[in-house]
Amino acid sequence: MLLALVASVAVLVCALPSVALAYRIAADLPEFAGSESIGWRGYRVSFDVSPDADAELLTQALRASTGVWNATACTGLELAVSSGPGPAAPVAGDGRNTVAFVDALPGTAGGDTLAFADVRYEHDPTRDVWQIVEADILVDRTRLSATGASLELVLEHELAHCAGLLHVCSLDGSDGAPDCASTVSTSLMDPRYSNTVTGPREDDVAGICALYPPTCLSTCAPDSVCTLTGCRPTCAGGAGGVCELGEHCDAGVCAPDTEPPCGSATCDPARGLADDPCAVGSDCTSGDCDSPLASDRHSVRAS
Ligand SMILES: [Zn+2]
Repeated sequence: MLLALVASVAVLVCALPSVALAYRIAADLPEFAGSESIGWRGYRVSFDVSPDADAELLTQALRASTGVWNATACTGLELAVSSGPGPAAPVAGDGRNTVAFVDALPGTAGGDTLAFADVRYEHDPTRDVWQIVEADILVDRTRLSATGASLELVLEHELAHCAGLLHVCSLDGSDGAPDCASTVSTSLMDPRYSNTVTGPREDDVAGICALYPPTCLSTCAPDSVCTLTGCRPTCAGGAGGVCELGEHCDAGVCAPDTEPPCGSATCDPARGLADDPCAVGSDCTSGDCDSPLASDRHSVRAS
């Protein structure tokens, strides 16, 4: 409920202390009790935009919003926007992270929700950890237009959900979160939309950086350099002289790594689920594309 209580916030600012509430992550939810940190296994997460009359507008806003998070210096997380058209609509369990406009959000009739993120978690039995395997974002273009809310700001908030952040407080005090009614936060992850929050604040950044610390603090091979997202091969033809994740340098040109076929025993556990070559709902932790049990899946919808 990203838009709720905007007017009330304005009234309450004078009466309540403005405090920095601590960031919250999925590991704080009862269903993930015992977990220390839950995020994507791979540090590069790519999003598709569904074809739509406003797809270009959405793509541009998504590029700007991912860019805000990617500019965060203390994290190795890299959010990307696919260049080609995405699926016709977000489908939970299709293995693709899809962002789409809708004319009305399902299940929110009469409410004031601007957008929500469906985040899919799976339990990795090999490592005995929960991890995010898929995240879709739906944006209600009707309410967005009616309220004049910033699409980029809404996407920054939803992207943080997709990366694993929860709201810093709860509108009804549920999930063990502080009650939003008792305080006024300045966090991007406050469930109440406010145009006084113009991007991630210190606490939001701290949460992302705790989930995805820089990955390359040790030495890299002689033909690679340390970047925020790990060791990358140097290459004359690469952007900035470095190949992207999933690429190697071939005679001065960055070429995509060969994806092993789904179901083969050759998938690379080190690649992470963001580029998992395995099929939908599968995992690649042991060298095999194993399908987790249904009981090892869990979805969380956050607005
Ligand atoms: Zn939210």
